[in-house]
Amino acid sequence: MYQFSTAQELLAICTREATGIDEITIRSEMEASGQEREYIWSKMHDQYRVMQESIKNGLAPGIKTLGGLIGGNAYNLHQHMQKDCLSGQTVVKAASYALAVTEVNASMGKIIAAPTGGASGTLPGVIAAFTEDRSIPAEMAVKALLVGAAIGKIIASQATLSGAEGGCQAECGSAAAMAAAAVVFLAGGTAEMSVNAAAMALKGLLGLVCDPVAGLVEVPCSKRNAIGTAHAMICADMALAGITSFIPFDEVVEAMARVGRMMSTDLRETARGGCAATPTARSYVLKINGLKTE
Ligand code: SF4
Repeated sequence: MYQFSTAQELLAICTREATGIDEITIRSEMEASGQEREYIWSKMHDQYRVMQESIKNGLAPGIKTLGGLIGGNAYNLHQHMQKDCLSGQTVVKAASYALAVTEVNASMGKIIAAPTGGASGTLPGVIAAFTEDRSIPAEMAVKALLVGAAIGKIIASQATLSGAEGGCQAECGSAAAMAAAAVVFLAGGTAEMSVNAAAMALKGLLGLVCDPVAGLVEVPCSKRNAIGTAHAMICADMALAGITSFIPFDEVVEAMARVGRMMSTDLRETARGGCAATPTARSYVLKINGLKTE
């Protein structure tokens, strides 16, 4: 009754029930799991608390990551935010939060994979920065997570959220789509606007390859999460301005799945293409393996 696997179905249920994506997501979860509303709600609250904790931990100076390729970037950007930052306070705050979560992920700390560990920064970054700057209560942040989850669920059922299967478009692209839909909800937009924002966000990152340097989820992953926050925010603004995606969300998801299938395996988490195949990346790999770079 509340199950959906496409945006078209989701929006039809929203219309039928005269309610929003957040409410339909929780009802569909109750229906599928047999759990009470309070249980699911408290689980989502817990997840948001972990996200907030990972932001806090990641903003500390001197974070040491497994490969040492990132760490401290979140702190630096957050410090920069106090000055006259070019992209605006909320965007820079969201980006610094996204860096923070991914630095915690890369240092084996606790994060919520939303939708994956590599792409865990964008969604909490956008939600936490926006709710803080607008003094929006935590309850709304949790509802925004449910909106983002609905988008992730559709992508997972129609395509993939895995970089190994679909490239980074499936990870960072999906995360940006989830964040765009969530922040539209927080800004008071309609369900249709959330879906349009998600479509524009995913479409804008179509074809993005998965190319982690040395196979570590650090470069380019962490900064892609930060960039994903700005990408999500501009897609949300476009949707809130009444701009729609020419290609409907469900078709963008299908296109993403097709592009993923066409991608060379070198560009799907094998660390053999893209950034991972650059001279700098190769010499880093030789260095960590204790081999000469010449
Ligand atoms: S580059 Fe690959 S490992 Fe890194 S975030 Fe993107 S999909 Fe994940």
